[in-house]
Amino acid sequence: MARAARTSIVIFGGTGDLAQRKLIPALCNLRRKGRLGDNVNIVSFARADYDDRAYRALMLNGARELGGLALTTEEWERFAASLHFVHGDLADPAAFEELGRLLAELEGSQGANRLFYFSIAPRLHGVAAQGLRNAGLCGEENGHWRRVIIEKPFGQDEESARNLNRTLQGAFQEDRIFRIDHYLGKETVQNILVLRFANAIFEPIWNRNYVDNVQITVAESVDVENRAGYYDSSGVVRDMIQNHLMQLMCLAGMEPPESLTAHSLRDRKSDMLRAVRRWSPSEFSRNAVRAQYEGYRDHPGVAPGSRAPTYAALRLYVDNWRWHGVPFYLRSGKAMADKVSEVVVQFKSPPLSMFRRLGGSGIAPNVLSICVQPGEGVHLQFDTKAVDAGFITQVVDMEFHYRKLSEEDALPEAYERLIEDGLEGDASLFLRADQIEEAWNIVDPLLRYWDAHADVEIETYPRRSWGPLSADRLLRRSGSVWQSPCSAHRQR
Ligand code: NAD
Repeated sequence: MARAARTSIVIFGGTGDLAQRKLIPALCNLRRKGRLGDNVNIVSFARADYDDRAYRALMLNGARELGGLALTTEEWERFAASLHFVHGDLADPAAFEELGRLLAELEGSQGANRLFYFSIAPRLHGVAAQGLRNAGLCGEENGHWRRVIIEKPFGQDEESARNLNRTLQGAFQEDRIFRIDHYLGKETVQNILVLRFANAIFEPIWNRNYVDNVQITVAESVDVENRAGYYDSSGVVRDMIQNHLMQLMCLAGMEPPESLTAHSLRDRKSDMLRAVRRWSPSEFSRNAVRAQYEGYRDHPGVAPGSRAPTYAALRLYVDNWRWHGVPFYLRSGKAMADKVSEVVVQFKSPPLSMFRRLGGSGIAPNVLSICVQPGEGVHLQFDTKAVDAGFITQVVDMEFHYRKLSEEDALPEAYERLIEDGLEGDASLFLRADQIEEAWNIVDPLLRYWDAHADVEIETYPRRSWGPLSADRLLRRSGSVWQSPCSAHRQR
């Protein structure tokens, strides 16, 4: 649906990698699909010194080369006509005055709605919010709304996240602040809600009585590439686990919301995070594992003797009636054997087995796997009778893949959905202040524990492996193994 009201989208950091790779292509696609009206102007603000013409040329090249955007010259020109550029530094009040002048010119005497997008380094989020506030650009007037989308990472720990929340809330009301976790914009992540709550067959068994453990994997096959400068001060827990994996855990484990409103969905996610058991320092040594891939310290930009983990695995418990005693295993790493994001629910084995499995003993537990990416879809593994082999069983895989549903080759980019929701004012797929603080509250003690044990040598794992041996031991103690039906399916 094309928006009728005049709107300005202001991208801070509009020449950056994210803008070129994701934001401009997403906006361009929305315009092409007729979901971004011609009365929406896009203003980019960054330090580089471009005029509109040079900026449009940079974006066309970047969106094609980095963003893989395929479009005709006519489509681009129609989109580019609404693309404008302001150059300046976020610390310079004069640059905000210049931005204000351009917005006034584009919006005319009637004014317009404004969506600000902070695609800038986290240390600049507060600076940008204050700059907007001081220049009077984020006050609502004549019924026109002002909203802000904030890129991740949101803070470095709970305290910095709280401070940033305070600064942002000084410029915008909480319901105008849209904290992004782009995983939530993915079709397959939203499908976790549909799978759980649109099908009556899953909910009765989605609890401690039937589920043995839940495994959440976000594995990258790439190493840190040219991001070592950022990554070395962050590490995998801040980069992935505090945000993407915690969100996947919430969707897999939360109670049913009474509706899909932002309020209801986010309340249930906050309940889930609050119920996560906080480990004491001595418990962390038995419930968390960290490691670095071999050769990580050789990357330019990595500090000598760096202790930043490129892999981590955690065992968490959710102390509520549904999940009491069921381990949630979270793992994420770089330079892994495969690129895969997946939620695996392993069900309990039958109490008594009278069968023998082909090439193994006992029968295999049922496993439901939600492939977030790639190979987006769902797998259900169950035992069946092997052909012409008496009562010997074998595991088979019932699968559904999104590519069979749609004529289109690719699922829509997460950023399209999220920007559209920002324009609609639907915050259900964005994070509320309390969720972010709660997620930091879970991982902060772990980060402090690891910092306090700087003398312990960090374990390494070979590139293109599934991580360190200690991560396997983390599960073996309770008789489980890591599973990835999604990856196994693609390797076949
Ligand atoms: P980048 O370094 O490529 O771009 C930064 C942008 O900010 C540039 O346009 C630069 O001109 C502008 N900028 C920097 N300092 C400024 C200042 N003082 N005044 C005005 N403009 C200034 O960064 P990026 O990779 O595009 O990332 C932007 C944000 O998005 C970061 O918060 C990052 O964590 C987040 N993010 C990026 C990606 C990605 O794939 N690149 C993925 C997820 C999240």
